[in-house]
Amino acid sequence: MKIAVLPGDGIGPEIVAEAVKVLQRLQAIHGLRFELEYADVGGTAYTNHGHPLPEATLRLAQAADAVLFGSVGDPRYDNLERALRPEQAILGLRKNLGLFANLRPALLYAELADASSLKPEVVAGLDILIVRELTGDIYFGQPRGRRTAPDGAFAGAPEAFDTMRYSRPEIERIAHVAFQAARTRRAAGHAGRVTSVDKANVLETFQFWKDVVTEVHKDYPDITLEHMYVDNAAMQLVRAPKKFDVIVTGNMFGDILSDEASMLTGSIGMLPSASLNAEQRGLYEPSHGSAPDIAGRGIANPLATILSAAMMLRYSLGQDAAAARVETAVQQVLRDGLRTADIAQPGAATVGTAAMGDAVVAALD
Ligand code: NAD
Repeated sequence: MKIAVLPGDGIGPEIVAEAVKVLQRLQAIHGLRFELEYADVGGTAYTNHGHPLPEATLRLAQAADAVLFGSVGDPRYDNLERALRPEQAILGLRKNLGLFANLRPALLYAELADASSLKPEVVAGLDILIVRELTGDIYFGQPRGRRTAPDGAFAGAPEAFDTMRYSRPEIERIAHVAFQAARTRRAAGHAGRVTSVDKANVLETFQFWKDVVTEVHKDYPDITLEHMYVDNAAMQLVRAPKKFDVIVTGNMFGDILSDEASMLTGSIGMLPSASLNAEQRGLYEPSHGSAPDIAGRGIANPLATILSAAMMLRYSLGQDAAAARVETAVQQVLRDGLRTADIAQPGAATVGTAAMGDAVVAALD
C-alpha cells in the first residue's frame, strides 16, 4: 500500500509524524506493509522548489493509493500572488486527483463532552458524518464575474455574480457515496439514515439535487432518506445534532454546515477528514489548518491526523480492523485522561504532541 506523505507547513510535520508512528506500529500488529514516500507541499514546497505544489509532489500523490496530508499555510507567504500561496496546493490536489467527495465525521467522545459549547447531554456520544460535494456548485459555476471596469476593481461596480450549477452525474456520484457510507455505518450500529440538505423551496439547482438524490435512493432500500432545507439543518445541528446520521449536501452548504458541526465537538484538534475520488483513492487530513501560532512548540493535538489515518485505512486501503483499532486506541487514551492543551480543562495537566502519539501507539496493543 503506497502512501504519499505530505506534512506541509506549521504544525503539519509535527502531527503527521505521530500518525506515521501509528501506521508503523499497525504494520507489525496487522501484518500490513505500507510504503511511505514523503514530499514537500505548501509554503515548504514554495521555499524549496518555488511552487506550493511541485510537479514531483503531484506525481507522487497521483501514483499513491492514498495521501496523508498535514496542513498548509504560513503567514510569511500571505503577500504572494494567489497562485503561489501555500493554500493553492490543496486546491490543486483536489482538482488533479478528482476529489469530489469530502467526508467529515463530527464525533464527540463522551470523555470530551465538557469541551463542547453545547450542553453535555445534547452532544455526548455525538457521531455523525457530513458528506460534502467538493468540486461543483456555485464555487465552480460558469459564468462568474463582475460587471465592472476592465481594471477589475469592485469599487463602483454595479453588480457581481456567480452561477450555481450541478450536473446529474455530479449529484448521482455524491449521493452514492452518502448512501454507501450510511450502509457501512449501519453495520456498526448507526441508524442507516441519510439527510439530504437542500434549498429546493427557492433554488432550481437544489430541486434538481433533491430529485436526483431521491432517484439514487431506489438502489438503497435498506437506508432511510429524508430531505431538509439548509436553514432548518443549521438549526437542528445545534438543537438536536444526535438525530442525524449521514448528511449529504452541496459544496457551499457543506462548507458552512461542516464547520458548524465541527464546533459541536469542542476542539478542531480532534476532527479528521477524507476527500475521495471515484476510485476511492483519497486525501486524508485533519480539518484544522497549520496553526502557525503554536507551530514548533510540540503542543499541537495530533489526534485529528491520527484519526485521518484511520479513515485512510478504512476508505482507501480496505483495512477496517486496523482503522477500528486506531479509533479504539484514541478513545482509550482519552479515557486514561491524557489531554493536549486544546482539549484540557483549565488548570488540568496536559501532554505534548509526541507524548499523545506515543500513548496512542501503546494503546494499539
Ligand atoms: P487553524 O485551524 O490553523 O487554527 C485555528 C486555531 O486552532 C489556532 O488557535 C490553532 O492554534 C488552533 N489549532 C488548530 N489545530 C490545532 C491542533 N491540532 N491542536 C491544537 N490547536 C490547534 O486556522 P487558521 O489560524 O485560520 O489558519 C492558519 C493557516 O492554516 C492559514 O494559513 C490557513 O490558510 C491554513 N489552513 C489550511 C488548511 C489546510 O491545510 N487544509 C485548512 C484551514 C486553514
